[in-house]
Amino acid sequence: AEDIAERLPGRRSILFAHGVEVVPIKTATLPPADHTNCYLVGDPDGEFIIVDPAVRMREDMEALATAVERHRGELKAILFTHSHGDHLADMSLLREAFDVPVWGSDYTAKSVPCQRVLTDGETLTLGRQNWTVLITPGHHPGHVCLFSEAGLVAGDMLAGIGTILIPPHTGDMNEYLLQLERLKALKPHLVFPSHGPVVAIPDRLIDHYLSHRRARHARVLEAVRNGASQLVKIAEEAYADTPDAHPGLAVDQTLSHLRALAADGTVCEENGTWRTN
Ligand SMILES: [Zn+2]
Repeated sequence: AEDIAERLPGRRSILFAHGVEVVPIKTATLPPADHTNCYLVGDPDGEFIIVDPAVRMREDMEALATAVERHRGELKAILFTHSHGDHLADMSLLREAFDVPVWGSDYTAKSVPCQRVLTDGETLTLGRQNWTVLITPGHHPGHVCLFSEAGLVAGDMLAGIGTILIPPHTGDMNEYLLQLERLKALKPHLVFPSHGPVVAIPDRLIDHYLSHRRARHARVLEAVRNGASQLVKIAEEAYADTPDAHPGLAVDQTLSHLRALAADGTVCEENGTWRTN
């Protein structure tokens, strides 16, 4: 039994599927999540990439470097799914360990130097595995998912724990729902989210997200129809069924719903007063 302690793989990474290995990284993300899943994606015996190496601490960088060294294949690139702080790395720390190009969408490339700009629908050939790039805005512009037979590397489109926020200014609720429908249609075998455990029945989770968001959308509209005109009041009514929701978060999400309703022409806003059209 003694040699079990020395046997590889080590304690800091888990193989989620053939070609998808996770290294959890401690991050200041949205509670209850307390980490970001960094993935090694690609051929277990060939080329692979690191997705979202959100390292800020040397200890985590070393755990990631150990997982990469243990991999039998060749590290080809680092890919960031999107440019939120809990997915990005301390680049100088990262550069100490990995000297490979950075890949990301055109939006990500605005804030992170990327050597390759990824486009929707292109195929990443990683050894004997093919991964399709999907640009899925909604949670954040230029958000990237990766799809293959193994499943969907979902970034922040879906979560294994907690909830996904749609920020009112950079997010887009209508687009988010459209992209969720698109992901559902792909019928992924498994979902590998950025936060929380692997999702074994993606269909059910995506349906839950869609119905939950649509119900909230309807409640926000109903609150405005019933005469609530100020954001805080609309949020109070729309979230009356969820008293535990963080008030700031409820207001933020209500604003995202209102902006989506305004984009559809269902409601409008003037000097902070909302009304139906
Ligand atoms: Zn995010």
